[in-house]
Amino acid sequence: MGFLDSMKSLLSGGEGQDKTGYYVYVRCHRCGEAIKTRINMRNDLSHLEEGGYTVNKTLVGSQRCFERVEVRLSFDENRKQVDQEIVRGDFITREEFEAAENS
Ligand SMILES: [Zn+2]
Repeated sequence: MGFLDSMKSLLSGGEGQDKTGYYVYVRCHRCGEAIKTRINMRNDLSHLEEGGYTVNKTLVGSQRCFERVEVRLSFDENRKQVDQEIVRGDFITREEFEAAENS
């Protein structure tokens, strides 16, 4: 990648530059598929009466498995993640997700 290209990708913004997007990577318990979802930090979060935010997401893989992986994330008032729960799946890192996609 040349200097200009890296400038361009810096300006257009990759996932790391996506300020409103928060990516979650999971692995389905049933079939092992790696699934990713994007949470919109502006629109998807619900404000809690006791303070902070929460978001619920249901992830379904693209393969022949209809297991629904339920994810719940909790954030504080500054939208910093403080807790995460998952049902029927496991949280994985972006590296693990990319490794699974390329295998
Ligand atoms: Zn599955």
